[in-house]
Amino acid sequence: MPEPLAESQQHDSLGRQLVRSRFRSFYARSQPYPAELVRREFGFGFTKKIDYRHKSFSSRNDFTDYLLLEIPFFVSYSTALYEKPSATPMNRKGYLGADLVFDLDTSYEKDGEHEHNPILCPHCLERVKEDCIRLAEDFLLNDFGVSENELTINYSGSKGYHLHVQNQAVRQLSAEARKQLLSYITATELDLTRFLRKEQFGQRKDDYVIRGPSWQARGWAKKLFTTAHSFIEKAEAKEFKEEHISSQRAKKITENRAIILNKMNEGNWDALRGMDSVWEKLLRKAVVLQSLEVDKAVTYDLHRLIRLEDSLHGDTGFVAKKIPLNQLHDFKPHEHALAFDEKQTHWIKSNVTGTLEIQGQKIELTEGKLIEVPENAAIYLLCKQKAELK
Ligand SMILES: [Zn+2]
Repeated sequence: MPEPLAESQQHDSLGRQLVRSRFRSFYARSQPYPAELVRREFGFGFTKKIDYRHKSFSSRNDFTDYLLLEIPFFVSYSTALYEKPSATPMNRKGYLGADLVFDLDTSYEKDGEHEHNPILCPHCLERVKEDCIRLAEDFLLNDFGVSENELTINYSGSKGYHLHVQNQAVRQLSAEARKQLLSYITATELDLTRFLRKEQFGQRKDDYVIRGPSWQARGWAKKLFTTAHSFIEKAEAKEFKEEHISSQRAKKITENRAIILNKMNEGNWDALRGMDSVWEKLLRKAVVLQSLEVDKAVTYDLHRLIRLEDSLHGDTGFVAKKIPLNQLHDFKPHEHALAFDEKQTHWIKSNVTGTLEIQGQKIELTEGKLIEVPENAAIYLLCKQKAELK
């Protein structure tokens, strides 16, 4: 395999030299590596996410030496384990199974709830983080029965989060089985008519009761129950209107809240007649609220490479930091995934106008203007090619 560096390094800009030297110091003091390193295929990026793949290492020391010598901007490894990770083509590697991995990076840029900041958007980062918590808690732990010590969560280093499940059972899942898990999470093949059914108890047309999920339901039935139950419990005029529920119908629901909720708890969704279209709307609402968008190929492609946890992301200089689930709620990448000296500063010339919120500060940038900024901000902007080092 051709080694990429020496020549290109000679032409590095000042900014690139700074980034490279700081990446090197980072890897000298922090030495990330994946579980079962010798069974993994590695990929490295110098100009893009993956320039070289099919690399393998015989020990942690070899791997760390490589990072320190080559100083890649992107470090990825296979979710799969192989007998011979560096063999090519893929079918000669000797596939031994793969971790179950999810990649969340839904774009919320145009969600209408905020003014998106194209330099770095805390709102978007927060939204994706909420998705990550839901994927971990509602789906992986709750519905799939993954235990917390088998689950590793890390910030991607840029706009999303990765979740890795490592245990013997998931390792053997086929690509097809992984697609079924995705279809459950994204609710793509969820048939809502299955969840409410008419139970006839007499001869007359009206002798039926509508049965649906009760408070004891599990999986999607429980998610549908929770959304509908909470809507009936709390909805005011505004919420009814948003769901296009008529004011007469809304009035009836409001007057009979307690009885509807009690019956629902038992799985009887028929306390009030003529609710069919209301239920239909609420079930659809539940799917929108509780399903998730994930990058599917990352999960079902068994030969995929994914960013190494706790390595640096070359587009931001942020750490793809591992975060325990119970600390995720308070995690803010632009404060907690910073890799470099918080006191050191550099002069840069910005190529953009706007605000960069980082390290607890709001830095106002003006295109073409020189400004002294903390190192974490300088490296972020240099990696993003939004500034030059002066
Ligand atoms: Zn945004």
